Amino acid sequence: MSSYDVAIIGSGPGGYVAAIRCAQLGMKTAIIEKYSTLGGTCLNVGCIPSKALLDSSHHYEEAIKHFAEHGIEIPGEVKVNLEKMISRKQAVVDQTTKGIQFLMDKNKIDVFEGVGSFKDATHINITKGKGKPKTIEAKNTIIATGSKPSSLPFIKIDKERIITSTEALKLKEIPKHMMVIGGGVIGLELGQVYKRLGSEVTVIEYMDRIIPTMDAALSKELMKVMKKQKVKFHLSHKVKSVERKGNEITVKADNKKGEEVVFTGDYCLVSVGRRPYTDGLNAEAAGVKIDERGMVEVNDHLQTTAPNIYAIGDVVRGAMLAHKAEEEGSLVAEQLAGQKPHIDYNLIPGVVYTWPEVAAVGKTEEELKEAGVSYKVGQFPMRALGRSRASMDIDGFVKILADSKTDEVLGVHMVGARVADLIAEGVTAMEFRASAEDIARMSHAHPTYAEAVKEAALAATEDRALHI
Ligand code: FAD
Ligand code: NAD
Repeated sequence: MSSYDVAIIGSGPGGYVAAIRCAQLGMKTAIIEKYSTLGGTCLNVGCIPSKALLDSSHHYEEAIKHFAEHGIEIPGEVKVNLEKMISRKQAVVDQTTKGIQFLMDKNKIDVFEGVGSFKDATHINITKGKGKPKTIEAKNTIIATGSKPSSLPFIKIDKERIITSTEALKLKEIPKHMMVIGGGVIGLELGQVYKRLGSEVTVIEYMDRIIPTMDAALSKELMKVMKKQKVKFHLSHKVKSVERKGNEITVKADNKKGEEVVFTGDYCLVSVGRRPYTDGLNAEAAGVKIDERGMVEVNDHLQTTAPNIYAIGDVVRGAMLAHKAEEEGSLVAEQLAGQKPHIDYNLIPGVVYTWPEVAAVGKTEEELKEAGVSYKVGQFPMRALGRSRASMDIDGFVKILADSKTDEVLGVHMVGARVADLIAEGVTAMEFRASAEDIARMSHAHPTYAEAVKEAALAATEDRALHI
């Protein structure tokens, strides 16, 4: 029987990063993945394919809507070849997942294909298909089994027309009318993809705003822009049934007044969140407790109720984000090597890759109000930047929240072109506990979108933005 210092179950961004870091730190490491490709949700059916389709559909939208303004004329009609778009996406996925296999080989990590299932706290059975299980021994194990799409109890996901993100990433036709249940990250990103490709898109959201966990100003700005793009929104609507007859889907919901509203379309994307995934893990055999929401219970060190078993990523509490899973993978590996790493969960940024993009780190205004913190706000609109006018990306703003007494930056919230990349400046500033004045006094290259960060910091510091 093969024996390891660490075995990792699941090869998503949490698992594969944990494996690399364990190997870097000199541990004999194995990774177990039930699918034939590595990379988990993120690389196969999440972050990477969704961004590939967002990029392709963005190019198309630019070509049909903005090229002429730039003085670029395309003789004849610009058309979408959906099959090609989806196959390019798949090529990006294939290349990226092969890259993980390369990294496993480079770091001498043993990769096992099959479902990992605890025999006891130090032995894991690995079963591939209907084959006989193979057992490995591991001093320590990291559970990184991720998540799966969740649904509503009355919805039957048929994977053809009533679909989750997984199917929406490989449709064979452009929907005529895609109804999206849930105006969170997935609904808005994939809704925007199909809107750009020509579908009518209707978002039905239970809360009174889209992306409800982000700062309310971001929800408002993104909804304003997406409404201009002709996406329809129905907020404060409680979906109560989804039914398919032939190719037609009917969604019934109750609005705020309790009146029934009926929507019909040819596709319904259910994007109401994801659930932690522990099916087949046989966690109880190892003494690992799963809580009532299906999450693996962990302490501050990400240690489960079995002392030699840890859990990271989507399967434990906190934001379901790839970079959060990665940080946790490194943290557990470093702890096992005797180090004392730390994660500041307040500084895990959140991004929505619509166009304009949305990005945030730290506290929202709503959270500061609720905590009774006295704060000041500096805000700067993208449209006042030369860079934004040059590219015609004038929607959005940067908003900085700073402590009114100490000037320490408490939150950075943005909507605009490339803010997914810009948020790193907010994270860096907050990691070093910068004041708004610290950011305001840094030179920001001109012309860049980043100048909006400096200007918002100037506005927060002394209400003295320069270009407005
Ligand atoms: P996962 O990536 O889910 O990986 C878990 C792996 O474990 C899977 O490969 C699974 O097959 C395997 N597994 C499960 N059980 C077993 C078992 N018993 N034995 C063996 N293997 C097992 N996050 C971002 O930060 N940015 C984004 O832009 C982004 N976009 C997304 C877009 C979509 C459409 C979706 C669905 C998600 C997106 N996410 C994004 C979320 C991100 O994908 C997850 O947060 C991330 O993948 C979690 O990583 P993980 O390692 O915890 O688990
Ligand atoms: P989400 O939690 O972002 O959004 C779900 C939305 O559905 C919420 O707005 C919620 O209020 C709404 N909702 C819940 N029940 C409803 C109901 N009965 N009727 C109508 N609306 C309802 O979840 P998601 O969009 O499915 O994404 C799942 C996870 O994947 C998220 O946690 C997210 O972090 C991750 N993800 C991240 C990215 C990114 O980082 N860019 C992209 C995609 C997914």
